[in-house]
Amino acid sequence: MDKASYTDRPGRCQPPAAQTLAQIRAPLTSLAGIGPRLADPLKRLLGGAEVLDLLLHMPDSYIDRRERPSLKAARPGRVVTLAVQVMRHDAPQGRNQPWRVIVTDGTAFADIVLFHQARLSQMPVGAKLVVSGKLEAFGNKLTLPHPDYVLPEERAGEMPAIEPVWPLTAGVTNRVIGRAMNDAMRRLPQLPEWIDPPLVARERWPGFATALRLVQCPSAEDKAPERESGRRRLAYDELFAEQLSLALGRQAMRARPGRSLTGDGHWRAEALRRFGFEPTPSQHQALAEIDRDMGERRPMLRLLQGDVGSGKTLVALLAMLRAAEAGTQSAMMAPTELLAQQHYRTLSALSPVPVGLLTGSVSPSARREVLAGLADGSLPIVIGTHALFQASVTFQDLGLAVIDEQHRFGVKQRISLGDKGDGTDVLVMTATPIPRTLLLTQWAEMEVSRLTEKPRGRGPLRTTIHPTAAMPEVIRALARALDGTARIYWVCPLVSESEVLDVAAAEERFALLRSRFGDVVGLAHGRQETRVREAVLADFAAGRIRLLVATTVVEVGVDVPEATVMVIEHAERFGLAQLHQLRGRVGRGTADSFCLLLHEDELNPIARERLTLLRDTQDGFLIADADFRLRGSGEATGTRQSGLPGYRLADVPGADDLREIANKDAAVLLERDSRLVSARGLAAGRLLAIFGKEDGLARLHAG
Ligand code: ADP
Ligand code: MG
Repeated sequence: MDKASYTDRPGRCQPPAAQTLAQIRAPLTSLAGIGPRLADPLKRLLGGAEVLDLLLHMPDSYIDRRERPSLKAARPGRVVTLAVQVMRHDAPQGRNQPWRVIVTDGTAFADIVLFHQARLSQMPVGAKLVVSGKLEAFGNKLTLPHPDYVLPEERAGEMPAIEPVWPLTAGVTNRVIGRAMNDAMRRLPQLPEWIDPPLVARERWPGFATALRLVQCPSAEDKAPERESGRRRLAYDELFAEQLSLALGRQAMRARPGRSLTGDGHWRAEALRRFGFEPTPSQHQALAEIDRDMGERRPMLRLLQGDVGSGKTLVALLAMLRAAEAGTQSAMMAPTELLAQQHYRTLSALSPVPVGLLTGSVSPSARREVLAGLADGSLPIVIGTHALFQASVTFQDLGLAVIDEQHRFGVKQRISLGDKGDGTDVLVMTATPIPRTLLLTQWAEMEVSRLTEKPRGRGPLRTTIHPTAAMPEVIRALARALDGTARIYWVCPLVSESEVLDVAAAEERFALLRSRFGDVVGLAHGRQETRVREAVLADFAAGRIRLLVATTVVEVGVDVPEATVMVIEHAERFGLAQLHQLRGRVGRGTADSFCLLLHEDELNPIARERLTLLRDTQDGFLIADADFRLRGSGEATGTRQSGLPGYRLADVPGADDLREIANKDAAVLLERDSRLVSARGLAAGRLLAIFGKEDGLARLHAG
């Protein structure tokens, strides 16, 4: 194989990437053996139409053709390469029988078995051939059915010693890809190293071009560990490109002008006095982080992660009061009407400054009043739903936007509420613990605070697992609990695509429990009129209803501290994170709580493992990671094991660890060289171009 045609040295004023990558940005049709007919299927297979896209098309596996035994010593079941001479051709013995080509290497005989007569012309009698394929035994006879390679002795060099097996598509054979790949490798320029040199040294990684060569065009001398090292380096390259691009986005976000909001704490102190409890240590910690962000002259973009019941609402209130102390307004957005009202009640009881409510169902006059207060600045805090986004809502000076249960909103909305003010600080709260991998990708622009403990004084929460067959026993236990003062959730799962059928299942369960327990049983589901559903939830909150049969409408945010028992039917149908979320509806008061997971009687081992994990831990972060892993591998197709779509190289075992390293490496690089103009910075610019992440770069050079 040719060495790269020239060495390209980064220079200060050299535009990034463009020139040196031109050869590999050429169309695929410029490659040997790729005509216009193959262009389309290849483009679909590779996800792009450039030479580069082929270079990044990773093999699934390799066929090692280096085993060259004598026929006498050869073992069936293995891929072998044989030097043989053709003795004779045996015509088929009957219909649907193959041609047989009898060959020998002087130590023994073997039959090459062919169903296509056309291939006979490759092996005339007397010819000396090199053949390669999987050897089989037929009785005591060695056979080689449809060999992969049949070459005249003098052309044996055309056969790869170690042959990559690439994912293919109709019309595109492995041979076609192999030939084009050889050609593509010759176009690869020598690229300067973009990975931190100590890291390269520590991992003993080859350079980018060498890594591609080891993976795509292995030679007979290569060793498997070297190839794996190259493959890992390439995975790192893609992850580093991703993390660098995200870091550039974050850097641009941080560079937006914001302002410093500070306060003297007098309203905070008053709210805490009314609240009557000390903040927990992690509430203190989160507030310190929020205060630091708000005090800085750039907009805050912070995610407050905390399990249900960990006390996010108090943190939000204290942050909003800081904004008020600084003389600005704040808005808090909830995903549902119900939650908005709940927050409104909680916050207006604690807040020493006026709080308004803005949802789809507030009366026109109340709405007018709130809008006027927001516009003239007399209303410092507003709680609402997406109604807050409407163009008719203007703020005199929105300093802080708080978004609760963010996963219900899109990124666009998150930004757009922030846009209602000038350099508005944004605090996003979520009860869904976000796995580390997603924090480093989809959520990369946010900084994270965590509430890790529950406020003191909570009673213990015990989780148990029961087959559906045990339902009568479960119902007897509920009867005992209802004889006391217990309040109980009974959650029915989504069973089908059709909400109507789900509701029917919930209604049936409701009828059963009602016939047993009477009026204390209520029903809440997503197809009820909002008004009806909210009346039911209010009855449950007030204790008029004590056994609430519900679909997952109770998942988000319903806060009834007196509820101590939760039954979840067909728990195996829920995601782990969702079960954890549901379970968080109980254990909010000081009394002991119970969560009963009912499952179908024949539970498969993986489902059992998931439920057992949930039973044994209440650590939301651990559960989220496990959930992500289980779902990720569940969705695996072929070798693409990653739970995240869109990677070409990074789907290797241990990718999560590599991403962590890449995340830090990217941060360090930008810290030293925020405009990527050093030699390594320019090299990294090329890396971004290779992985189609020039956007961040363009912004850098425009700004
Ligand atoms: P989250 O929104 O994180 O699910 P909440 O903010 O609704 O949790 O808090 C859950 C319960 O804990 C509420 O009843 C709240 O009043 C209470 N709480 C919050 N912080 C504290 C604290 N520091 N000490 C005692 N109780 C607290
Ligand atoms: Mg909440």
